[in-house]
Amino acid sequence: MGAILLVEDEIAIAETVIYALQADGHTVRHCLDGQQARAAVHDAVFDLAILDVGLPDVSGFALCGELRRSVPLPVIFLTAQAAESERVLGFDLGADDYIAKPFSLRELVARVRVALRRGAVQQTGDGVTRTGAFEHDADGRRIRYHGHALDLTRYEYGLLAALLARPGAVLSRLQLMERVWEDAAETGDRTVDTHVKTLRAKLRAAAPAADPLRTHRGVGYSLDVD
Ligand code: CA
Repeated sequence: MGAILLVEDEIAIAETVIYALQADGHTVRHCLDGQQARAAVHDAVFDLAILDVGLPDVSGFALCGELRRSVPLPVIFLTAQAAESERVLGFDLGADDYIAKPFSLRELVARVRVALRRGAVQQTGDGVTRTGAFEHDADGRRIRYHGHALDLTRYEYGLLAALLARPGAVLSRLQLMERVWEDAAETGDRTVDTHVKTLRAKLRAAAPAADPLRTHRGVGYSLDVD
């Protein structure tokens, strides 16, 4: 159960969403526009944001970018148009999910549960972050998976660390390049794919039954942690 920030300017939609989320045990703070949302994240901590794309003062995509600069926050976008370009744009900004209007409340509630579960990350006492089957020692640049220490190259480590930082979220090749390679301009899509391939082989060697690295054709990659 989580604290959810809902930014939606259509009162009728907001009311039904608030009702459904509260019935599922969440607390909801409702904002009508970007300005209210900025103030809300300033004085409260949220587990998840649900952002309407068409807000009166700012686009939901731009708002997502702004909020994420100050706090790490899983985001679900609500949009009136499910155009593929918007979808990819949303993912590039770090959307965890995307729901087109009209949507069923049951579907929304189910997606919220998934997003909250993905966000559940455990800090252990020794500076290691445990996320599902992964244990990440960021200081030592080491990652264990199902108890096995992974022997990773610098780029494989960078890719896995970037994906682990946003469990379940789709990261585009461009986002991965920018996070992992010092000179992203010199790096092609193929380079990312090549290192993902060797990383995937190492994860499979550690746990043959699991296949946590997911390819989203034409979009990018995500990591399942549970
Ligand atoms: Ca709207």
